[in-house]
Amino acid sequence: MKVFKGAALFDGTGSPVQPDAAVVVDGDRIVEVGPAAATPHPPGAEVIDLSGTTLLPGLIDCHDHLGHTGYGLMDRWELDAPPSLRHLRVAQTLSDVLDMGYTSVRDAAGLDAGFKEAVDEGLIPGPRLTLSLSLISPTGGLADLKSPSGHCCPGPPNISLPSGMVDGPDAVRAKVREVVRMGAGVIKCATTGGASSRPGHGPFDREFTRQEMQALVEESHAQGRRVMCHALGGPGLRLALEVGVDSIEHGTHLTQDPDLIPMMADKGVFYVPTLLVYVYHRENILPHVKARARALHFHHLESVRKALDAGVTVVAGTDAGGWGHPPNAGELRCMVEEAGMTPAQALVAGTRAAAQCLGHEADLGVVEKGKLADLVAVEGDPLTDINVLLDRDRIKMVVKGGRVHSRRP
Ligand SMILES: [Zn+2]
Repeated sequence: MKVFKGAALFDGTGSPVQPDAAVVVDGDRIVEVGPAAATPHPPGAEVIDLSGTTLLPGLIDCHDHLGHTGYGLMDRWELDAPPSLRHLRVAQTLSDVLDMGYTSVRDAAGLDAGFKEAVDEGLIPGPRLTLSLSLISPTGGLADLKSPSGHCCPGPPNISLPSGMVDGPDAVRAKVREVVRMGAGVIKCATTGGASSRPGHGPFDREFTRQEMQALVEESHAQGRRVMCHALGGPGLRLALEVGVDSIEHGTHLTQDPDLIPMMADKGVFYVPTLLVYVYHRENILPHVKARARALHFHHLESVRKALDAGVTVVAGTDAGGWGHPPNAGELRCMVEEAGMTPAQALVAGTRAAAQCLGHEADLGVVEKGKLADLVAVEGDPLTDINVLLDRDRIKMVVKGGRVHSRRP
């Protein structure tokens, strides 16, 4: 047994911080939470003094690309390095992400099932992973990796990641079954282009027909998998909501029609705005990407504010990978500094709300009796300065499943 004692506790529910708390852990679970003075130490328990820190639930990023290293074709086709070197780099990224207090990550395409198994076996350190493996889109959509010259990747970039490019409802069903067979815990698809997609296919251009999307959602749910859908605006955004996806990724133009946000709130669709990736895109060297990112910025922030006001659950996700792997808490900073969320709202978006989006709220996302002991202790007060979570030196301790992963003096 372990007793984590003396920290100010933010439990992830949004309740006020409890000063001088104690969290008692037995094995991988929390068995008691309360004021340190009133929570007895079980005999023989190891007592860990966390005075001067704020203790949070392990942080969760619901949209990362841990296996990606860039947007260029050399990276997308995995031609830039031997597979062994790429894999070792990914292992380093997984370790770094955990080190920064992120104990769970939903990967939004590009990471194969071997990494999850390696983490689960204890072979390499890393966050708990929920994988989508491949993004599913039609020909010409985001999963179409053909080069502008018309050349194709000389071979499958990675045989453990099936091509996600598929057309027609029956083929879409088969593709969902294939990615599930290969280890997908969530289904990732796209119904629109994006800021970084090729010229001529942007945020308002639709991917997939209604019949294809109905088949995708029905088959995913039949397989017990949720659907995370890249959708920015235009008819593809509406289609995604109408056919019943579980989360909207990016959702930069949710305010385009007055019924979209109420529909999200009614259906309980999660909103993962991924503000941080657009900070990068607004300075992108490709003129069409920069122009799109700048044009959508106002609508994106307006979408976040109106969604929150309407009671939509907003969830943190960085969409990192294509532009490197900065600290994942950069998304929480954007939520506060750009979108005007309170630090407490941003922290809930990266803990309890994110666990709900994963469907793992019974085990993760809050510090309470019965939950898995995923914890992060940070020096300072993230409720007054969210930036403390971006400073590696301030992340004093990370615990995953009751095991202390890292500890800094
Ligand atoms: Zn993404």
